[in-house]
Amino acid sequence: MNFAEVIVDVSTKNIDRPFDYKIPENLKGMIKTGMRVIVPFGPRKIQGFVTAVKETSDLAGKSVKEVEDLLDLTPVLTKELMDLSSWLSDKTLSFKITALQAMLPAALKAKYEKELKISGDDPLPPQIERLFSERKSLLYSDIPDRETLKLIQKCVQKGNIDVTYQVKQKTNKKMIRMIQAKVPKEELAKQAAGLSQNASKQQAVLHFFISGQEGLKLSAADLCKKTNTSAATLKALIQKGLLQESHEEVYRDPYQDRMFKKTKPLALTDEQSAAYESIRETLDQDEHKVFLLHGVTGSGKTEIYLQSIEKVLAKGKEAIVLVPEISLTPQMVNRFKGRFGSQVAVMHSGLSTGEKYDEWRKIHRNEVRLVVGARSAIFAPFENLGMIIIDEEHESSYKQEEMPRYHAKEVAIKRAEHHSCPVVLGSATPTLESFARAKKGVYELLSLKSRVNQQVMPEVSLVDMREELRGGNRSMFSLELMEQLEETIAKGEQAVLFLNKRGYSSFVMCRDCGYVPQCPHCDISMTYHRYGQRLKCHYCGHEEPVPNTCPECGSEHIRFFGTGTQRVEEELTKVLPNARVIRMDVDTTSRKGSHEKLLSAFGEGKADILLGTQMIAKGLDFPNVTLVGVLSADTTLHIPDFRSAEKTFQLLTQVSGRAGRHEKLGRVIIQTYTPSHYSIQLTKTHDYESFFQQEMGHRREQSYPPYYYLALVTVSHEEVAKTAIIADKIAHYLKANCGADAKILGPAASPIARIKDRYRYQCVIKYKKENQLSEVLKKILEHYKRDIEQKHVTISIDMNPYMMM
Ligand code: ADP
Ligand code: ZN
Ligand code: ZN
Repeated sequence: MNFAEVIVDVSTKNIDRPFDYKIPENLKGMIKTGMRVIVPFGPRKIQGFVTAVKETSDLAGKSVKEVEDLLDLTPVLTKELMDLSSWLSDKTLSFKITALQAMLPAALKAKYEKELKISGDDPLPPQIERLFSERKSLLYSDIPDRETLKLIQKCVQKGNIDVTYQVKQKTNKKMIRMIQAKVPKEELAKQAAGLSQNASKQQAVLHFFISGQEGLKLSAADLCKKTNTSAATLKALIQKGLLQESHEEVYRDPYQDRMFKKTKPLALTDEQSAAYESIRETLDQDEHKVFLLHGVTGSGKTEIYLQSIEKVLAKGKEAIVLVPEISLTPQMVNRFKGRFGSQVAVMHSGLSTGEKYDEWRKIHRNEVRLVVGARSAIFAPFENLGMIIIDEEHESSYKQEEMPRYHAKEVAIKRAEHHSCPVVLGSATPTLESFARAKKGVYELLSLKSRVNQQVMPEVSLVDMREELRGGNRSMFSLELMEQLEETIAKGEQAVLFLNKRGYSSFVMCRDCGYVPQCPHCDISMTYHRYGQRLKCHYCGHEEPVPNTCPECGSEHIRFFGTGTQRVEEELTKVLPNARVIRMDVDTTSRKGSHEKLLSAFGEGKADILLGTQMIAKGLDFPNVTLVGVLSADTTLHIPDFRSAEKTFQLLTQVSGRAGRHEKLGRVIIQTYTPSHYSIQLTKTHDYESFFQQEMGHRREQSYPPYYYLALVTVSHEEVAKTAIIADKIAHYLKANCGADAKILGPAASPIARIKDRYRYQCVIKYKKENQLSEVLKKILEHYKRDIEQKHVTISIDMNPYMMM
């Protein structure tokens, strides 16, 4: 093959297509589809993906440039994933290169470095000559100071120095130093005998090898530890030619020093068996089907996953399990590692770039057959997929909120069609979209209506906080919650307190005039951080100290208001001085491993109360937890989003599900200012079906999903007028071209009207037929190409928005 088609690492509309490159002699026969290459592009050298190789090029004869270098020995993307990437970019209206990159670990993305080379024979300033005297080329990072940089810039302008771009690889494999004997044992013994008395350390090392196994090889670090010697000793012996060193690649295994207790399949309950049998049949027949496993919390969904996976592995195939980032807790990982041991790779955002790369390579090299991971694990490069499981399928973290804006569920179904295998979506509170599909028979519904071993669902009571206030209780804890907390602790049982926090709750307010400080760039309330008494904007990072007096009315009564977890903890220690509390929020879990430590401390009974935010709502399974308290049920209800009722119901059901999961009976207390809202009322009876019916009614009335598809177009620019004008033109164009059954809302200022000094306007499109809209939107992007590339206008399109902000 003489030519390669390459998608290059440039994200602009004009370049969003493959370019032809000539394959040089030395790379002939080596370049394959799905490999990464380095190619010249304009003045630069950049990374690209080979999408095809071919004998001839239409451009042949013209000056087709040559591939500069090949980065991979085997393709990093399979044929299936290459095809999937075209589908993905088409479906999400993103660039081809963006879709390709989304499928690979960050370590394989190119980083570029500017490289400087002398060009021509003109004399350079002496400092610069000196810099170059030691090397042929210079990287930007080699420039010592600003002075030198300025001199260099002058030379570049005069054309005496050339700037080129070099691809810098980030894929550093971890290597460790291994030591072994270089000569036979007899020789070692002879040498040891000849060593002086002073060289006792060297003696120790030699004797270690003499008494050890033939051909013993171990890491330098281990050897030093075992013989109580240092690197210097080893160096001396290597120099004498008695030992030799080598470097071996190892995986950074974040789970390496942990023991996983091996678990065995449990005998399934009747309900579990029925669900499992349906999945097993589909597996046996190598069929593609989507199952919706709707099971109440504690109904044993995970055991069904585990046994289905076992079946898949027994067939010699592979499986992907997606779990939400937030519930990718050690508890969850243990359940998979415990059953399948080293066959499991784990991928989540808590891993370093290197660790992620290593987990990915285990899959790429067929060393594991199961991956448990967050959203992006859906792109695991398995070639023989037997099943995909998406746990907590209603979680919004399965939607990627940057380009390509894909939903892992859609990708899963696409991949499963290709591999002719089942997808299992599991949840106690499925999305309306999924449940509606299951009702229509598009998905097959599997129901688990009761908890394992027939434990009853926890009893839920709602407390009207307005009544509490009227009754004179100004505390954040209702009387009932206080009583229950005391009782629970007295019985030696544990409680989980959940603070429904969405960034609105911890702000500073003037008690006299009601003023709340806003971010000067984003039009949203700033969040109060107790540490350092500062206000922070969670969208753009703007930070300032808490003011002493109110900028509006001059009052000194401006202070922290609302409830952050720290605040609750303080209150809690006041009213229950003897309670031991573990607090889990972004502040206490920012360090690696701290999340896990706190949870295991709670599991070991080192605290009575686990207090936390969203991050404790999911997946926790502690037998001693009998009380769950929700401090503020309403926060999610008031976010500007048509899914707010659904989100509220999901969240309350999930949190309630943490109580009484084993032998002991559970109890849930939900504090609210809107007790009559159906999303809160129906949590009381754990009645998903009724919630579904009611919410579907609203969705139908308002033409929202699942009755309509939704797309969101957001325009942003520094000038408010320009933003509004473009948004307006787009809305007109949409109205004229989208067909009669589509409804166009807006343009309107986005709920967050400004982020990082850029104004934002949006249009919402409700539509019935997909293909038609896609074409219209592509035309819009094409039309505004120049504004986007040259005038800093951003037009972002979300084909299935989960965040309406
Ligand atoms: P879900 O994911 O549906 O909320 P889990 O899978 O966490 O439920 O199961 C709840 C508990 O029941 C877990 O502790 C699990 O080990 C246990 N369990 C599940 N299936 C069985 C079974 N067939 N027999 C006994 N215990 C089971
Ligand atoms: Zn004021
Ligand atoms: Zn801001």
